[in-house]
Amino acid sequence: MEFQAPVADILAAMQAAEEPERGGAEDIAPDTVAAIVTEAGRFATTELAPLNQIGDQRGAQFAEGVVTCPPGWREAYRRFAAAGWNAVAASPEWGGQGLPIAVEMAVQELWNAGSAAFATAPMLTAGAVLALEAHASPDLKAAYLSRLVDGTWAATMNLTEPQAGSDLGALRTRAVPAGDGTYRLTGQKVFISYGEHDLTDNIIHLVLARLPDAPSGTAGISMFLVPKILVGAGGMESRNQVVATGIESKLGLHGSPTCTMAYDEAAGFLVGEEHRGLACMFTMMNITRLTVGIQAVGVAERATQQAIAYARHRRQGRAVGWPGDGMSPIIAHPDVQAMLMRMKVLTAASRAVCHSCAYAIDAGRVANADRRRAWLDRAALLTPIAKAFASDSGVDVASLGIQVHGGAGYIEETGAAQHLRDVRVFSIYEGTNGIQAVDLVTRKLGLDSGRAVNRLIDDIAGYRGEARAANHPQLNLAADRLDAALDDLRSATDHMQQSMADDRRVKVLAGATSYLRLAALVLAGGLLARMAASAGGRVADGKPLAIACHFADMILGETVSLRRSVADGTTDFSAHATTLLSHSNPETP
Ligand SMILES: Cc1cc2nc3c(=O)[nH]c(=O)nc-3n(C[C@H](O)[C@H](O)[C@H](O)COP(=O)(O)OP(=O)(O)OC[C@H]3O[C@@H](n4cnc5c(N)ncnc54)[C@H](O)[C@@H]3O)c2cc1C
Repeated sequence: MEFQAPVADILAAMQAAEEPERGGAEDIAPDTVAAIVTEAGRFATTELAPLNQIGDQRGAQFAEGVVTCPPGWREAYRRFAAAGWNAVAASPEWGGQGLPIAVEMAVQELWNAGSAAFATAPMLTAGAVLALEAHASPDLKAAYLSRLVDGTWAATMNLTEPQAGSDLGALRTRAVPAGDGTYRLTGQKVFISYGEHDLTDNIIHLVLARLPDAPSGTAGISMFLVPKILVGAGGMESRNQVVATGIESKLGLHGSPTCTMAYDEAAGFLVGEEHRGLACMFTMMNITRLTVGIQAVGVAERATQQAIAYARHRRQGRAVGWPGDGMSPIIAHPDVQAMLMRMKVLTAASRAVCHSCAYAIDAGRVANADRRRAWLDRAALLTPIAKAFASDSGVDVASLGIQVHGGAGYIEETGAAQHLRDVRVFSIYEGTNGIQAVDLVTRKLGLDSGRAVNRLIDDIAGYRGEARAANHPQLNLAADRLDAALDDLRSATDHMQQSMADDRRVKVLAGATSYLRLAALVLAGGLLARMAASAGGRVADGKPLAIACHFADMILGETVSLRRSVADGTTDFSAHATTLLSHSNPETP
């Protein structure tokens, strides 16, 4: 089935996120944005979508340190770079277009719908460019940025080591000053996406490592730029001492090589200050976390389109009221309709939440000084929510996509299974969703002494008000449901903040994932209601209304049980954990 770029849906989600009257991001002409997203959609459908299945079937190959991407990928990457798609959000100083992150996310969704495994490469380069723009010395910027921006070179992020995954404080890669202002890095990194490949002539690794005198833990981490090929005044000079020693065989994203990297006194250049590397890397990680959410939206959109197309053609049984002869298409069965609609509304909800986060990032860059802090806090608050909610929803959607296909979904030929295999890692990498939830409840709920989250809740209440102002009977019902969900969110937030203040950390951490989902659902409900109510108080009948109402009817009700698990749990979590999980319990394996 041909993938259709959901241009109108993306533009609507971007618009629903805007808050210009509150000192938000500068507008760029809607026609310009529409033209960019339309063109990206054309590229994704014609160039990338046809590569998706072959990337899965053939995968990246490793032989003697060389990684070869699947057939057609080099050519597609060349056309991608030549069309300027690497340059969307990068600064014009380095050849970029300086467009908002919201536009970057719009096109990233389309690349990922086309082929998530392919899109992972430019996603990493785009994130590294932002980190280098923010933290690298003028010399490093001059030497590397323009070629990363024009796509001649690609970039990676090297954090993970065998003993240091979620806990980066445990990393051991060492960086020793060479005496000439450069450093020599030695150590092993694992699971490095596109650590080696044949799409570009050079690969620029951003690597976290420790100096000999570094304090332990995360306070002792520095960030280095380590090129695969060292670059001198005359261009690329000699091979650096960094090699891929293998690639992983994995569940999905087969076209994206996941490399083990060996650094053996590799020459590296400090980015930012010594021991302050984690903060520098977070410039890349924050944007990449949002992009991972958007990766999931892209795959979810494609899985949904494919499932709907299949359900229109597959005939089984006779649906109630089916007027035609013989068997009806399965799309006529209410249960299949319910699955497809859940896929549609979760995809729309995830897209809306991600764009709300993207808008906050943009506003944090351009807002006046008096509003800037609030927007930066909003972006910090929404980043874990967007990453985790969208990636969990992506798994839900892709799994339903298989279910709609029945047995054919479990068979690789249809491609439905690939979506689930590909999307599954988005809940894991860039910080697992568990780590996102911990970040949200332990660090982000306290932003601006708790006022940041309360401002978010007030804004969602404002969206609910916009929906009510439209005075449409169905949307009023959705607004009623949103009211109840807002009460759940307020109650759970108060409970979390009080538990933090009382230092009841087990309580906070045990409820973190439920709290994150609760917050995401309420935000999504508000944004979808806002999308359904036009600015003039008239309801845009049709799709936005159906999505807002169906989300409120079928999904928003989850907030009751989520609030209960966060705030009203009457039984003892730790005692249950001991009973069910302890080694001393003979019934526990
Ligand atoms: C396909 C793929 C591509 C990747 N690409 C890259 C890359 O390009 N660069 C890179 O640096 N890394 C990359 N990674 C690594 C990825 O970021 C890590 O796998 C991830 O951060 C989790 O670390 P871990 O695998 O060590 O799991 P662990 O840290 O061992 O976690 C296991 C489980 O324990 C939970 N857990 C751990 N600590 C805590 C805690 N404090 N509180 C609550 N729960 C906790 C986790 O949520 C998880 O459920 C990639 C991984 C994969 C699979």
